[in-house]
Amino acid sequence: MKQKETLLTTPLSEQKIELSHLIIEEMGDEHKASSVDTPMRADAFDKTDEEKIAIIEPHFRAIMETLGMDLNDDSLRGTPLRVAKMYVKELFQGLNPANMPSMTLFENKFQYNEMLVEKNINFYTNCEHHFVPFFGKAHVAYISSGKVIGLSKLNRLVEYYSKRPQVQERLTMQIGKALQTVLQTQDVAVFLDAKHLCVASRGVKDDSSNTITSFYGGKFQEENTKAEFLKYLDINA
Ligand SMILES: [Zn+2]
Repeated sequence: MKQKETLLTTPLSEQKIELSHLIIEEMGDEHKASSVDTPMRADAFDKTDEEKIAIIEPHFRAIMETLGMDLNDDSLRGTPLRVAKMYVKELFQGLNPANMPSMTLFENKFQYNEMLVEKNINFYTNCEHHFVPFFGKAHVAYISSGKVIGLSKLNRLVEYYSKRPQVQERLTMQIGKALQTVLQTQDVAVFLDAKHLCVASRGVKDDSSNTITSFYGGKFQEENTKAEFLKYLDINA
């Protein structure tokens, strides 16, 4: 029997008005975020991916040459183009709302109205202050308002927002806000536990510290609901 499904056709760009109301105050000395929206230029998508790659390549070549590297070397020759492609087509493809995964919702026919937790979603993203990776586990949860979502869509949404230069605070909120919109409920929680290479491999060189951020909407702001969520994560509230 085919489940009745509703395709959410609202692209995320249309939610910008709603999301931009939310201002996050300064968070930490080096990592501050001004808004839940990724700061973007008005002409962000005037150029095609291929045009962007063609522009980035010589700039990256200039960085390498300025550092004194010999680009005639076989091993280095292809690096500028490789990096340009990787930036546009892989690491930062989530800047473009056209790449947002389609979110298919289903009627909650079985009337499951308890918490659903999807834990240990691996994510890899890049710190927008240093352009080096931070990565870890995302745990997301929601309580259905009558719609349910395919579980893999939760992973895909986390991945989409990870494919941008990010700060962990904004990544957490972007995932949370998008889930609220997609699932048509405030009852959403997001918990990110990450290791930042800009902290581990440079600067203070602390490779044992983790950074935790969370987003609690609707019922998850109530202590017992939040505690139940954290219990599933094996984390003390
Ligand atoms: Zn950083």
